[in-house]
Amino acid sequence: MALTISRRALFGVAVAATAAALPSRAEARPRVVAEPDAVGLLYDSTRCIGCGGCVAACKESNGVPWDGEPTELDCTTRNVVKTRNLRQPSAAGASTAFVKRQCMHCVDPSCVSACMLGALHKQGNSKRVPGEPKGTGIVVWDPDLCLGCRYCEIACAFSIPKFEWLAANPRIVKCELCRHRADPTHDGPLSVANPACAEVCPAEAVVFGRRADLLAEAWRRISAEPGRYEPRVYGESDGGGTQSLYLAAAGVSFQDLGLPDMPSESPASLSESVSHAPYLHGLTPIALYAGAAAIIRRNRRRAEDESAHHGEDSK
Ligand code: SF4
Ligand code: SF4
Ligand code: SF4
Repeated sequence: MALTISRRALFGVAVAATAAALPSRAEARPRVVAEPDAVGLLYDSTRCIGCGGCVAACKESNGVPWDGEPTELDCTTRNVVKTRNLRQPSAAGASTAFVKRQCMHCVDPSCVSACMLGALHKQGNSKRVPGEPKGTGIVVWDPDLCLGCRYCEIACAFSIPKFEWLAANPRIVKCELCRHRADPTHDGPLSVANPACAEVCPAEAVVFGRRADLLAEAWRRISAEPGRYEPRVYGESDGGGTQSLYLAAAGVSFQDLGLPDMPSESPASLSESVSHAPYLHGLTPIALYAGAAAIIRRNRRRAEDESAHHGEDSK
């Protein structure tokens, strides 16, 4: 009889071993800065007309059927545009504002920090996933390494990753900056094609590019029309910095747009000194997680083979 180990049982063993290996005091680790060629999105709330084109394009690009205008991110929705009621009118007198929500592609992501198997990682930065383009900083999920613990979902301050509760072989779903549209003939970080949401936006409210260029563009817009914008770019340093950047209308707080008020230190830099200490102090958890990953990968492939076989039978 084949040995089968549930994700829940594996997770329990892994957590126990990690706790046993924790050191008695936390250790600091250096601040993470954005890679020079990191890519991202600039969303300009003042330009958005709330048409929902980016939401539909996102679903189409990710092969998800349209099932009505979503109001929240979920396991079939990687991008949503919300209408926010403002606590006080904007400088232009508006009582509502649009905001697009998707993964922030944090410079120092909590989801990556929490994922001890490296299933969530910055593209190209994981030794366990060879061959990915380096330098984009896109936060991606690898099904072959995922234990299904949902630590990433809990760790994310922006409530972005969603778990496919009802799927036989659940995935963690979130925006991956349309990396599936990458041009394989073009090397380097900007081989990532224009994401669907940026390509379709009729108002140029969503722009894709290098984070450094997007920041410059955001400040150019603020300088050109100071009466139109809040004099701040959300994500420049919030939460340690993000690769999805936001502009708000003058008089509108980013918190009114639903973006959390965060210090310039990333949550990961604070928590990682504790949670990653076993990697510095003992090899046992590493071996344990490597073994767990191998078993999960094997079980996943077996489930996919069985699923494909079942599909052929039912045709
Ligand atoms: S927004 Fe959440 S899911 Fe996206 S990179 Fe940051 S921590 Fe990870
Ligand atoms: S980059 Fe792609 S996956 Fe992310 S929100 Fe835009 S269309 Fe959706
Ligand atoms: S397509 Fe552009 S204008 Fe339309 S909702 Fe999306 S961001 Fe706003």
